Amino acid sequence: MSKNGVLAKEPVSDGAVDYQRLIQLFECPVCHEYMRPPIHQCKKGHVICQKCRPKVKGICPLCKQLVANQTNLMMEKISTLIKFPCVYAPKGCDELVPLREKSHHETTCARRPVHCEYARRGCGALLPLRDMTGHVRQCHFRPA
Ligand SMILES: [Zn+2]
Ligand SMILES: [Zn+2]
Ligand SMILES: [Zn+2]
Ligand SMILES: [Zn+2]
Repeated sequence: MSKNGVLAKEPVSDGAVDYQRLIQLFECPVCHEYMRPPIHQCKKGHVICQKCRPKVKGICPLCKQLVANQTNLMMEKISTLIKFPCVYAPKGCDELVPLREKSHHETTCARRPVHCEYARRGCGALLPLRDMTGHVRQCHFRPA
C-alpha cells in the first residue's frame, strides 16, 4: 500500500480491498471532496456529488453526456459500508470514520483549525484545536 502522507493508518482488512483506490472512486470529479448520498450519475455511470450537480448544468464533466435523473444506488450503498478519511487529513488527522459519524468527528476533530479566543482583541492565530491551549496561554492579546 502506498503511503502518500495523508493516511498513516492501515485501514480495512489485510489486502482484501485496495482501500486507496476504493476511496478514490468516491472523489467527486468537480470539487474533489468525498461524495455522500445522494450520488448522481451520467448516462455512462460517471458520478458527481449533490453539490456540484447544478454547477455542471446537467452535462457530465468527464464524457459530456447528460447527467441522469437517478442516483447511483450501488455507490450510495457502498458509501455507507466504508470509512472515509477525515476532512482534516491534510492537517494530520489519520482517523477514518463512517459517513454517519463524519460530521460529528469533524466538528470535534483535534486537528480542526480554530481561531484564538482573543481574536476579537486582534489575535489572528488559526491553529489546530490541540495546539490552541498552548497558544492561548502565551497569546500576546491575552489580557493581563
Ligand atoms: Zn462535487
Ligand atoms: Zn460521464
Ligand atoms: Zn479528524
Ligand atoms: Zn491568540
